[in-house]
Amino acid sequence: MSKKNQCARCDGQCCRYFALPLETPQDRDDYDDIRWYLCHEDVTVFVEDGDWYINVKNRCRNLSGKDYRCKIYDDRPKICRSYSHDECDFVEGDYEYDLHFTDDKQMEEYIKVKFDNNMKPKPRPAAKKGASKKS
Ligand code: SF4
Ligand code: SF4
Repeated sequence: MSKKNQCARCDGQCCRYFALPLETPQDRDDYDDIRWYLCHEDVTVFVEDGDWYINVKNRCRNLSGKDYRCKIYDDRPKICRSYSHDECDFVEGDYEYDLHFTDDKQMEEYIKVKFDNNMKPKPRPAAKKGASKKS
């Protein structure tokens, strides 16, 4: 059964970031590339069900600052049309990630453990908001 549409109570959380899939890193250089992404402000990287994503916290210019409605609703991109408010950020709350990196230092530490210490890196406690727009 469909959950009630909560958009009227929300400040447009799903319109304040975008997330894109990354190729799964294979070697130290790949992880170092991800460390570079994480040097940038408002960028995080997460792993969900084994898949890697980069998340950019950046508000859509079409989100109204007055009522948090979409200013181009009738002409919004298809990814917005396919996003379900049944299972959205506001309704579902925090996500459970396999891994979640919020800055380059965390990745640096992860790389050291993974490649230098010959130990299996421990997953970070996750559950942060802001995953990809899921259909
Ligand atoms: S779909 Fe969910 S996150 Fe997006 S505006 Fe509606 S309630 Fe908020
Ligand atoms: S185009 Fe509209 S629905 Fe899509 S992210 Fe921007 S404000 Fe949200």
